[in-house]
Amino acid sequence: MEAVMPDIAMTLYPQDYDAVFFDLDVILTSTAKVHASSIGLVQKLRALNIKTAVTTSSNTCLEMLDDAGISKLFDAHVDGMDISRLNVRGKPAPDIFLEASRLVGAEPARTVVIEDSIAGIEAGCAGLFGCVIGVDRTGHAQALRKAGADVVVTDLDQVRATEKPSSSWSLVFEGFDPAQEGIREALCSLGNGYVTIRGAATGSAADGIHYPGNYFAGGYNRLRTDIAGRVVENEDIVNFPNWLLLQFRLDGEEWFDTGSTKLLSYRQELDLRGGLLLRSIRFEDAQGRRTALKERSLVSMNSMHLGALELTLTPENWSGNVTVRSAIDGRVINAGAKLYHKFSNKHLEPVASSPVGEDGIYLLVRTSQSNIQVAAAARTQAFLNGKRIKAERRHIEEPGYIGQELNIDLKQGSTLILEKIASFYTSRDFAISECGVEALKPIAHSDRFNAILADHIVAWNYLWRRFDIHIRTTNTLPLNAAMLLRLNMFHLLQAVSPNSIGLDTGIPARGWTGEAYQGHIFWDELFIFPFFNYRMPEITRSLLMYRYRRLKEARTAAAAAGYKGAMFPWQSGSDGQEETQKFNLNPLSQRWVPDNSFLQRHVGSAIVHNVWQYFQVTHDVEFLYSYGAELILDIAMFWSSIAVFNPDRERYEIHGVMGPDEFHDAYPDSATPGINNNAYTNIMAVWVLCRALEVLGLLSDVRRAELKMRLGLSGEEIQRWEDISRRIHVPFLDNGIISQFEGYEKLQEIDLDDYRARYGNIQRLDLILEQENDTPNRYKLSKQPDVLMLFYLFSAEEIGELFQRLGYFFEYETIPRNIAYYVDRSSQGSTLSRVVSAWVLARSDRQRAMHFFAEALQSDVNDIQHGTTSEGVHLGAMAGTIDLVQRVLTGIEARGNILRLHPELPKVLERLDMRIRYRGHSLYLRLTHDSLTVHGSYSSAPPISLCIDDKICEYIGSTTRVFQLNTETKHDNT
Ligand code: BGC
Repeated sequence: MEAVMPDIAMTLYPQDYDAVFFDLDVILTSTAKVHASSIGLVQKLRALNIKTAVTTSSNTCLEMLDDAGISKLFDAHVDGMDISRLNVRGKPAPDIFLEASRLVGAEPARTVVIEDSIAGIEAGCAGLFGCVIGVDRTGHAQALRKAGADVVVTDLDQVRATEKPSSSWSLVFEGFDPAQEGIREALCSLGNGYVTIRGAATGSAADGIHYPGNYFAGGYNRLRTDIAGRVVENEDIVNFPNWLLLQFRLDGEEWFDTGSTKLLSYRQELDLRGGLLLRSIRFEDAQGRRTALKERSLVSMNSMHLGALELTLTPENWSGNVTVRSAIDGRVINAGAKLYHKFSNKHLEPVASSPVGEDGIYLLVRTSQSNIQVAAAARTQAFLNGKRIKAERRHIEEPGYIGQELNIDLKQGSTLILEKIASFYTSRDFAISECGVEALKPIAHSDRFNAILADHIVAWNYLWRRFDIHIRTTNTLPLNAAMLLRLNMFHLLQAVSPNSIGLDTGIPARGWTGEAYQGHIFWDELFIFPFFNYRMPEITRSLLMYRYRRLKEARTAAAAAGYKGAMFPWQSGSDGQEETQKFNLNPLSQRWVPDNSFLQRHVGSAIVHNVWQYFQVTHDVEFLYSYGAELILDIAMFWSSIAVFNPDRERYEIHGVMGPDEFHDAYPDSATPGINNNAYTNIMAVWVLCRALEVLGLLSDVRRAELKMRLGLSGEEIQRWEDISRRIHVPFLDNGIISQFEGYEKLQEIDLDDYRARYGNIQRLDLILEQENDTPNRYKLSKQPDVLMLFYLFSAEEIGELFQRLGYFFEYETIPRNIAYYVDRSSQGSTLSRVVSAWVLARSDRQRAMHFFAEALQSDVNDIQHGTTSEGVHLGAMAGTIDLVQRVLTGIEARGNILRLHPELPKVLERLDMRIRYRGHSLYLRLTHDSLTVHGSYSSAPPISLCIDDKICEYIGSTTRVFQLNTETKHDNT
């Protein structure tokens, strides 16, 4: 009785296999007729560039194929004649298949064997072929299975061959490329909002190709450097001890290193759904020993102090000894960013180290200035063919380094699994006695890798449920946009997550994925917060508290500069003092150039915008009363005190600042840095003053009085806010376009095409010009068009209201002219500017907008800034692309007490699905071309007002509403 059913179907992908070998009997019937299904499969394989060969013990293979007219369909054949000629063994020995492998040039592991005989199946298994398929045309499926067939089918029409659809949940790299490794490490970083490791190979050290960085959110340290005749002080995000070290070497060989070993295959996959980094490698050493290596690593989203990695080694054609070394290395320095190579970089001092029990190690270090202690402990266990083994261990200890070496004997075909479970704590953690004591606790009774993985996946599942934005595209979209968007969300959730709530950390421009910008916090939050506001506003609240706690420092900075209120730093780190470097090295000219970007006072307005948006989405009155209002009022006081009244104009002005466009830090030939009346800065100041006035009206009498007292806010000052908000100066060009700043009209036009022709990539034209002893200050040119930020942040209606308040005549029709003017004069030198350009063009020039969106989406996977991604991903641009999708497609806007949606799905998209939270309601949105469905979970929150395409309705929880969209009035979008 046949107990085993044949498999239903199986698919072969060219990504997995290079060749398929057919037994002759699978191709031809006993009467030498062709099996049509088999030929169909052969043709599909050839179309996919997969090699095909026929094997048989019969002596007349070629004649039979010729007679059937199909000999040309195969790249090789090996028959009985070859067996005698080569003097090799027949089946069940694998020799005949190995000869076919040699002929077509394919590795057995990447080759499929299709057989109908037991001996053939056994031969395929003995040769360690990638997949062995049994064909059961006579009812012996069970015997084929028993002989080792991976899959059994009754006919080859059940075997399909096709390109693997690219997954929207995986970032995959095939092959090892040393030049790309830094980029992959940043992109494949693993983190949980508390700690992040770069996706470096597990045994690697910083060697010019690899850079295994480990960063704790907010783990900064200051160092001084004597450089170019002056002492500079820098605060860096510290590269903490590397616990990822798990090396191995085969008897008589060097430690395994992807850079120097002959790799037979290499595949790396970042599994976004499960938060897992996978590597699958086959390599061959100098002695011809072939080994399969699989690597899995994670930083637990569920237990934020845990990381785990697993190596699986299978010797394919050898037996022998392997040495494994598991270590924690605290001798690491900060060497991950080219710009800072000349600065002091040794932040760590060893404190203690020791072995822990039989299989554990422990290391304690401290940062030299900020005195953060970090403890890491790790336990390494070995399992041979599924059973735990007690290998002989040798301890290695040096200052700042601790390790263990294990010796293990392996047999051909056996499987060695090495599991390293690490735990880490810092002296800044909550609810601990001492970080060393805490780090040891999880190691004492750690779970197996798979158990930690299971909990980690569950935690990620919950995150994805809340955060995923899924677009279903038609085939015309060339990018795997759905995956790239998820990659961006993945990085955002690794930089800050539920684990970060309550920690005193901000969100850095490059995530915690590299050392560029030293882990500092910029205005990029402005681009990042909308993603969190609509999904887990508790995270935004926590990040806003990072700013609130640094109000004192911002007040001190304002006072030191002669102003009132709070002047937040352009770059912020541990305590909120200004961290912007004084000088930067231009890598092109090798000259140290003053960095005046600290004059970007607009960062304060971004903070107010963030507080306000958070409040609009959540209506978190307690936060506004307790913290948000104080931030808004104090920043408003700063704008009021920096604004000067110009009696000639009868308007207020703001002098000596920089706008977001970093190409303009001074007037040409001026010895003092700063420009006057930057339109973006001035209009944002007005907007902040308006919000401050509004907030005063929202507070209770007691709280208002308390805050006025605390901030020294007089009635006169409030009157001044009213006045400035109606009379600030905004410069215009003759053609009615907003002038980027006062005097912009006097600058020269620049021929960007000329520079493009000479330099190719001109994104950083400032560096090119400096090298040519010139400066962008002389030109109508921008790194990022800062006037356009106004249209990015505000609707046309809001801009109209602001101009009206200021008494300026502003025609909506000039908006597209402003956009065209400034987009054409931008070198797009910041990844953020593509997001802004895409947004402002979204509804007027969809094609150009799509171009910018596509570039922004690929900022990091394609390293569009040529060399910056390896030093950290660009989190602002990542978040900006997601916000673009949510804002452009749904037109979402939380303003007043209404959630407005103005959906518009372009033709290249079929559907958008996302879940948002708004004022206590959890809403699932599904947008198609015809309708918007809003499904709410149960909520005890009061009903909310929705406005869909200008129609307002009340919405209560637990209901599903389908809004038909008026497709006729929608644009003819593409
Ligand atoms: C941009 C800034 C940005 C910073 C950090 C710079 O290149 O000009 O706007 O805040 O990068 O991302």
